[in-house]
Amino acid sequence: MKNLETIIQICKQRGFIFQSAEIYGGLKGFYDYGYLGVLLKNNLKNLWLKSIVFSRDNIFLIESSIVGPRKVYEASGHIEGFQDPLVECKNCHQRFRSDHLMKGEYGEVKLKDNKPLCPLCGGELTEERQFNLMFKTYVGPVEELATEAYLRPETAQGMFCNFKNVLNSMRTKLPFGIAQIGKAFRNEITPRNFIFRIREFEQMELEFFIDPKEAEKWYKYWVEERYGWYLKLGFKKENIRKREYLREELAHYSAATTDIEYKFPWGFDELEGIANRTNYDLSRHSHFSGEELVYFDEKTKKKILPYVIEPSVGVERLLLAVLVEFYDEDIIEGERRRIFRFPPFLAPIKVAVFPLLGNKKKLVDKAKEVYQIVKKDFISFYDESGSIGRRYRRQDEIGTPFCLTIDFQTLEDETVTIRDRDSTKQERIKIEEISEYLKSVFSNND
Ligand code: ATP
Repeated sequence: MKNLETIIQICKQRGFIFQSAEIYGGLKGFYDYGYLGVLLKNNLKNLWLKSIVFSRDNIFLIESSIVGPRKVYEASGHIEGFQDPLVECKNCHQRFRSDHLMKGEYGEVKLKDNKPLCPLCGGELTEERQFNLMFKTYVGPVEELATEAYLRPETAQGMFCNFKNVLNSMRTKLPFGIAQIGKAFRNEITPRNFIFRIREFEQMELEFFIDPKEAEKWYKYWVEERYGWYLKLGFKKENIRKREYLREELAHYSAATTDIEYKFPWGFDELEGIANRTNYDLSRHSHFSGEELVYFDEKTKKKILPYVIEPSVGVERLLLAVLVEFYDEDIIEGERRRIFRFPPFLAPIKVAVFPLLGNKKKLVDKAKEVYQIVKKDFISFYDESGSIGRRYRRQDEIGTPFCLTIDFQTLEDETVTIRDRDSTKQERIKIEEISEYLKSVFSNND
């Protein structure tokens, strides 16, 4: 089993992920992202955009506001329904989601008089109460119902509220989609498993509007499309699976849902959900706003209230899956090596450039010259400190696929060594050919 603790430690040490407000003791369920974390997240978001939006001509991006008026969430059902059952230990005051508690997710639960006890200290638990997961705020200086607003718990409502704007401005026809990447906030009762369940996260969501008659076809299409995307990213088939919900598991708005699950260190768990949300959202927003959110079919001269298929994935949850999937350890020259085997198109830093010796001016000057060349096309890193072996190891640990080393031969024939992260093999390549060579490696095939 891959050790989550080791991955968390590397993430902090090497600048992927930090606990938010750490110098003040941190805030549970909130994380900050260092240079490598931001680069990796950006790569994931760009791959999603390419696959969902830019490779098609009927899906359009939007960016809607994070704060929304109460009315939006009355219409969506979140004020009434976005609740988790909560219990608290009377002794240690730890809070638990009672549904997760009973599934044993916090550890073994003992019973007393048929009632569960705290899995941490064995204390008595309070009666269950419903807890709304949305963060509430007020817009302007007066705190009253009319100024009540919420941080969005999903980006989806922004797409439903803009249904007409996008339909009219893009002059599009059914089927069409609205996609968005953006922050979402949930006041989760028990954030856990590093960045798996957090309180501030980013979602990548698509709302794909369709004729209700074609709901089954498009639902199946998107389940396969999204599953295939993970295989293309390089996830092993045995680590990724589809799980269709039973009827009793479905959310109130959904006619069918399939989760794509990843084999996290604690077992298979949800990575992405693909739901047939029916016409629930459009009909509710039509009703609450008084705006008719329908599609006029020119052929039949009839109004259609579209159904919607929604694939939705959290960027940080995906980031964690990627870190787990590609982390590896091996032995190189008798030394244990930690390595992220990211496919080249995913790696945060693409190339590192080193002078063989950091104290030889001629080598340093030449290495900086090569660095300036590769930096134009690829996110690169220059390093002249420490032994060459240690510099290679540092790059392996952050998943850099290639290292270029400038040595004495470079000064004679304008060639450098290029070292492959996975095999550690080195070859010589002409400086003028580096860019073309790397471009061919980094272009991915989707
Ligand atoms: P869960 O059952 O894990 O709480 P959910 O079914 O409520 O998740 P959705 O509302 O379907 O999740 O959200 C879609 C996606 O957003 C999830 O598949 C996940 O990738 C991501 N997501 C949801 N909640 C969180 C969270 N608290 N932290 C990180 N990512 C999240």
